[in-house]
Amino acid sequence: ASDQVWREVDAYFTGSLVAEDDALSEARASGVDTTMPQAEVSPNQGKLLAMLCQVAGASRVLEFGTLAGYSTVWMARAVGDGGHVTTLELEEQNAAVARKNLERAGVADRVEVLVGPAAESAQRLIDDGVAPYDFVFIDADKPSNPAYLRASLALTRPGAVIVIDNVVRNGAVTDPDSSDERVQGVRAVVADIASDPRLDATTLQTVGVKGWDGFTLIRRTG
Ligand code: SAM
Repeated sequence: ASDQVWREVDAYFTGSLVAEDDALSEARASGVDTTMPQAEVSPNQGKLLAMLCQVAGASRVLEFGTLAGYSTVWMARAVGDGGHVTTLELEEQNAAVARKNLERAGVADRVEVLVGPAAESAQRLIDDGVAPYDFVFIDADKPSNPAYLRASLALTRPGAVIVIDNVVRNGAVTDPDSSDERVQGVRAVVADIASDPRLDATTLQTVGVKGWDGFTLIRRTG
């Protein structure tokens, strides 16, 4: 199947099952005002994240990589009124776009956007002894995936769910000698997951409007 067919199938299911209101479609469109246009998750995956939060009964969510806040809006709505999302973003430009989108979506009061290198922001959360998170979405700079998983483990308890995005990279992930640091970031975190007895995980490949990629779903069991 071709890229075009993948797009049509995504459009079919999005049109049937994934209702985006104006706030969500505007958040997606506002990606052009960020440093990484079109790097947000697809609508189908945004809804999947929201549904995973709901299935996990999450009320506290941690996100690495905010961009325009598109995935953030999905998850912030999923945790409901009493929930909280902390989202970590390097670029002030992106954080400013995200804050507007969170406002428009009616969830600004339950989302905290922390600007700066995510590893440093996460370390501050650890040092501050914040309440544990129930769900983590790792979607920032891929070479730092192992550091983000370590921080996530310091900020969650058994039962938590962690999703790592963009782990397939057009199939490049299978090359142990890849010179792409993003591929090496994925391979390193997969090795860490595999050797950690507290973690149970699987990976699904995806095709669609975002091309060929995939995500790893982790359940913290211990
Ligand atoms: N989660 C967003 C969504 O689906 O709508 C997309 C996030 S985008 C793939 C990756 C984001 O990570 C970008 O906004 C980028 O600026 C941010 N980023 C890159 N390096 C970072 C770092 N060291 N710390 C925090 N954020 C970083």
